[in-house]
Amino acid sequence: MASKHSSERLIQQLQHQGINNAMVLEVLRTTPRHLFIDEALSSHAYTNHALPIGYGQTISQPYIVARMTEALLEQGNLDKVLEIGTGCGYQTAILAQLVPQVYSVERIKNLLTKAHDRLTSLGLDNIHFHYSDGHWGWAENAPYQGIIVTAAPASVPEALLEQLAVGGYLIIPVGAQNSYQVLLKIIRTRRNHYEQYTLDEVSFVPLCQGIS
Ligand code: SAH
Repeated sequence: MASKHSSERLIQQLQHQGINNAMVLEVLRTTPRHLFIDEALSSHAYTNHALPIGYGQTISQPYIVARMTEALLEQGNLDKVLEIGTGCGYQTAILAQLVPQVYSVERIKNLLTKAHDRLTSLGLDNIHFHYSDGHWGWAENAPYQGIIVTAAPASVPEALLEQLAVGGYLIIPVGAQNSYQVLLKIIRTRRNHYEQYTLDEVSFVPLCQGIS
């Protein structure tokens, strides 16, 4: 069981770090992060750290999940959100409790299957899964008012810019692995016009090519 005490402490830390969207904090407080990681690591589930989930991948740090979600919600009118990098499905679960429809793309089949089973057993039925290379987005369901990318490409994939609705927000880390990466918020203000803001300095696993 999630320790109520440790999840409360985590939420206090996030507030100290500047997260102040009450809905985001509440969803992070009530989502059982220990169910998304290996049992051997469960004592670390409510610490503010990224943790390994196998295949060389990680579950994102709660602060980063909160920061990205908060930035996305500023869009204010999210109907469909595209997530690139399902991983263990933790960020997906947070999004699915805050927006009507979540479309999530993952390139590692085993991670996708496990995330699908986990999220289904949590009763989240507004998530659509796609086994693919997220560099291509998920064109069939575009446009999206929000796109969130949880692995870092060297530069912003063109398909994601194209699949963003006018008025939509793209939250994406960009930069080489083990090097300087920044978290960007890109707003499609008009059909052919995008505005870019830097939110944070971050450290993500790379957005890889192809499927596995
Ligand atoms: N949101 C996840 C973070 C997982 S780490 C979580 O909270 O668990 C990043 C994920 O992005 C990994 O699962 C990795 O396999 C995936 N990924 C990397 N490159 C990708 C690509 N090109 N397309 C789709 N997913 C990708």
